[in-house]
Amino acid sequence: MLDQSEYLHPDKECLSREQIEALQVERLQATIRHCMNSPFYKKKFEEMGIKPEDIKTTADVRKLPFTTKQDLRDNYPFGLASVPLEKCVRLHSSSGTTGNPTVILHSQKDLDEWANAVARCLWMVGLRPSDVFQNSSGYGMFTGGLGFQYGAERLGMLTVPAAAGNTLRQIKFITDFGTTAIHAVPSYVTRLKEVMDQQGIDPRKDTKLKILAIGAEPHSEEQRKRIENMLGVKAYNSFGMSEMCGPGVAFECKEQNGLHFWEDYYIVEIVDPETLEPVPDGEIGELVLTTINREAMPLIRYRTRDLTRVLGRTCACGRNHIRLDRMKGRSDDMMVLRGVNIFPIQIEKILMQFNELSTDYLITLTTDNDNDNMTVEVEVVAGFDLTDVARVQPLTKEITRRLKDEILLTPRVKLVPLGALPKSEGKAVRVKDFRKVYQ
Ligand code: AMP
Ligand code: ZN
Repeated sequence: MLDQSEYLHPDKECLSREQIEALQVERLQATIRHCMNSPFYKKKFEEMGIKPEDIKTTADVRKLPFTTKQDLRDNYPFGLASVPLEKCVRLHSSSGTTGNPTVILHSQKDLDEWANAVARCLWMVGLRPSDVFQNSSGYGMFTGGLGFQYGAERLGMLTVPAAAGNTLRQIKFITDFGTTAIHAVPSYVTRLKEVMDQQGIDPRKDTKLKILAIGAEPHSEEQRKRIENMLGVKAYNSFGMSEMCGPGVAFECKEQNGLHFWEDYYIVEIVDPETLEPVPDGEIGELVLTTINREAMPLIRYRTRDLTRVLGRTCACGRNHIRLDRMKGRSDDMMVLRGVNIFPIQIEKILMQFNELSTDYLITLTTDNDNDNMTVEVEVVAGFDLTDVARVQPLTKEITRRLKDEILLTPRVKLVPLGALPKSEGKAVRVKDFRKVYQ
C-alpha cells in the first residue's frame, strides 16, 4: 500500500479481494431485499424464486435476471423505483432515438454517494483541495455536468462550472482563474487547443493546466497520448453512464493501466453478448453492472452494451478494485460493412498514428451503384498545406493502406482543413450511415 494520503477512502479503496467479495455479498443481499419494493423486480424475483439468502458468493449474482435499457423504457418513467417518489430528489433522463427516454431516480443518499465516488476518482489522479477544477460538460440531463460538479466540490476544489461550448470564454476562465484540471469529452480538447493556438496561448507556459479527466465517449490510447502532448498534461480516462448514476463508476489511477471499477459500488461481470455466459479474463465481452449501494433505483445485472475485458484485479497503486480495458465501443456502434465488423475506434487508432492529422474525423457510409462504401474524412493539423499535392497524395495513400490492414476493407480517405468537420457540444458524432437498406 502506498502512503495513506494517496487515498480518499482508504478503508474502501485498499480492501483485499476477500474483503471486497464479503462486502459485495452483504450489499447484494441487502439490494435484493430492497428491490422487493420495486414492482418490476418483485415480480421478477418472485417468478424466479430468488431470495437474498441465495447469494453466498459474488458469483451468485449470476442467479439473478438481467436488466436492459428496454426494461427501463417499458417501465417509463418510475416503474423501477425501489422507494416512494417523495424520497427522490432528482432524476436524470436520456433521450432515445426511438420510444421512451430512460429515467434514473436519485435519493439524497444516492447523490451523496455519487459525489463521494467522483471525489474518490479525482483524488486518485492527484487532485487536492488546492486545485481549480473546470467542467466543460453540459449541465442538465447529461450527468457529466452535475456529476463532476458535486464530486469536485466534495473533494474541496474551487470549481468553475463553465459548462459546454463558448471556447473563448472557456480559455479566459482557464487563464484568469488558474484552472489546473479540466473535465472534457476528448473531442472537445482538440477544439480548445485549436482556439488556444489562434489566440497565441501556449498551454504549457500561459496556463496552470496539469490534469484532464476525459471520458463519456470511446477514445483510443493514441488519442489520449495526443491530448497529453498537445496540452502538456496527464489525461485520465473517466467512465460512467447515467444508469449507474453518471461519472464516477470507473477511473484510471496514476498507473494509467485500465479503469478501476469501484467494487464497493458495483458488481462487475463481462459476458458473451450472444450466450450471456461469463467470458474468461482477458477476453472481450459485454460489461454488465449491478449496483450494490443505490437507494432510489438499484439496477440488477444491467446490460451496458459496452465492450471491454478484464485486465487484472491488483494494481501497483495499492487498489484491488477490478481493472478493465478502455471501452472498445458499444455493441450498437459496430458497423457491418460488406459483412466485416468494424468499430470506429479501430479507425481512430490508425489515424492518430499520423502527425499530419488532427484528432477529428468522420466516417460516412453510403451506397453507390449498389455497393456499400466507407469514406473517412479527417482534419489535418494547423499549417498543413492541402494544396501540396506531392505531400497529400502519398499521405492519403499510406493512410488508406494502414486502414485497410486494420479493417480489411479499402475506405476512401479525404483530408480536410482543420475545423472543417461539424462539431457537436456533447459527445462527438463519428459515424453517419446513409446506406440504402434492401428489404
Ligand atoms: P450516458 O449515459 O449518456 O452518459 O452514456 C454512457 C455511455 O457513454 C456508456 O455506456 C459508454 O458507452 C459511453 N462512455 C462513457 N464513458 C466512456 C469512456 N471513458 N470510454 C468509452 N465510452 C464511454
Ligand atoms: Zn491502480
